[in-house]
Amino acid sequence: MDLRPDEISALIKEQIKHFADQLESKDIGTVMTVGDGVTLIHGLDDAMLGELLLFPGQVYGMVMNLEEDAVGAVLLGDEGTIKEGDEVKRTGRIIEVPVGDGLLGRVVNPLGQPIDGQGEIVYQHTRPIEKIAPGVMTRKSVDQPLQTGITCIDAIIPIGRGQRELIIGDRQTGKTAIAIDTILNQKGQNIYCIYVAIGQKNSTVAQIVEKLRQGGAMEYTTVVSAGASELAPVQYIAPYAGCAMAEEWLEEGKDVLIVYDDLSKHAVAYRTVSLLLKRPPGREAYPGDVFYLHSRLLERACRLNEEHGGGSITALPIIETQAGDISAYIPTNVISITDGQIFLQQDLFNSGIRPAIDTGLSVSRVGSSAQIKAMKQVSSSLKLELAQYTEMQAFAQFGSDLDAATKATLEHGQRVREVLKQAQYSPRSVAKQVVTLFALKYGYTKQIAVTKVNMFMDELYQFIQNQHPEIIDQIQQEKSIDDELTLKMKEVMKAFVENFLKVNKDG
Ligand code: ATP
Ligand code: MG
Repeated sequence: MDLRPDEISALIKEQIKHFADQLESKDIGTVMTVGDGVTLIHGLDDAMLGELLLFPGQVYGMVMNLEEDAVGAVLLGDEGTIKEGDEVKRTGRIIEVPVGDGLLGRVVNPLGQPIDGQGEIVYQHTRPIEKIAPGVMTRKSVDQPLQTGITCIDAIIPIGRGQRELIIGDRQTGKTAIAIDTILNQKGQNIYCIYVAIGQKNSTVAQIVEKLRQGGAMEYTTVVSAGASELAPVQYIAPYAGCAMAEEWLEEGKDVLIVYDDLSKHAVAYRTVSLLLKRPPGREAYPGDVFYLHSRLLERACRLNEEHGGGSITALPIIETQAGDISAYIPTNVISITDGQIFLQQDLFNSGIRPAIDTGLSVSRVGSSAQIKAMKQVSSSLKLELAQYTEMQAFAQFGSDLDAATKATLEHGQRVREVLKQAQYSPRSVAKQVVTLFALKYGYTKQIAVTKVNMFMDELYQFIQNQHPEIIDQIQQEKSIDDELTLKMKEVMKAFVENFLKVNKDG
């Protein structure tokens, strides 16, 4: 048989032509419908879930639905330039954001683009925003404290590095305040912070950034903001983008704190996207996988063991409740995912107890193992004392004669309450918290008027700082209070109380 070269080359050409055809339908599609930030695309047979697509005019989209004969995608930019019949290209990548130290001190959007007007972000590489959380074998248990500087939290609901602690409460109850104070308190602690703002007003975020800057906290903080005016898909990816940035530092063995403010708005953004994509609505119209939305995010917070660098991501998600209802759908979901919650009450806030933490309903399931011993020694009975006080307070309102024991419990409870009140932007050091709670525990506040308790504590700490700095050194270094130190502190405090009472005659 004789082979003619021109026939063979024609055959090969034919084959290659078909090959190219196949490529086309796999990697290039056409827009069938577009509207409300959502498109349906024909073609793109090989598209991956979460893949980035390129539309005309450099607009990016993200694959959210893989249907039998179409691909559903959300747009991450202006849809004005896109119309039916437009060509869509696969990029083969899922969404990535720049990571690394170049992000410190910056405010970026969820795509990692700067929005603070301070020029381009300097970065070496990027990371995909979605990643499977580290497995159990790479983790270790939480054993180092993350000091918030808020006495009520550090003493009663302590948080450890690598923990996920939910901050939950109605609107305007001081949720953001707790998160921001915690970030401010990390100054000099070698912890990197990320604040993810979801669906908030740009002016609110600007104020927060300003506060962080004033407190010198922007040096170790990145703010990721998807404002209320951003498209729902952009709000939806914001926490994952923030988490990817945190993971870079985690893998370098660093400790990171990340705040998601707030996940209620995040769930709403996801619901919007899902409804537009015509996914079946479930309870409260949220799609069926709304639990997975938050579980896969919060599972990425962890404490890695030494073999894996020993870094950690501590997550403080925030949830807004309606009329204090913590048993609603999204709140119960997130409560069950996290290692505890700090519950803020509107009533407490309005009656001037700020931070308005309901110590009865708040809990930290892992943090107490991370508390320093000195703190444990002075704070172990606080929760019970507060519970007894609240119970008796209601009872004592009826004004009948009270026996001495009840009276003493009430008097003590009032002082505990007072000490746990704390203004915004005034974090307290661990040493100060220990000294304060020590004075409370051993009854040095008995003769001090309730209204003067905080003044007394401030002066007491100042006095010890100036006259007996060795006490503070010992608390900071030994991290526990031995018998000798107990005696010494008691002696110093006794003398101080006598003096204080002399100066402030009315107690
Ligand atoms: P939103 O639901 O609007 O996000 P939020 O629950 O995050 O509100 P914040 O914005 O933190 O609440 O605080 C509400 C108001 O309470 C603010 O004006 C804040 O300054 C004030 N506030 C918060 N914490 C304290 C505090 N410890 N002492 C005094 N004022 C406080
Ligand atoms: Mg807030």
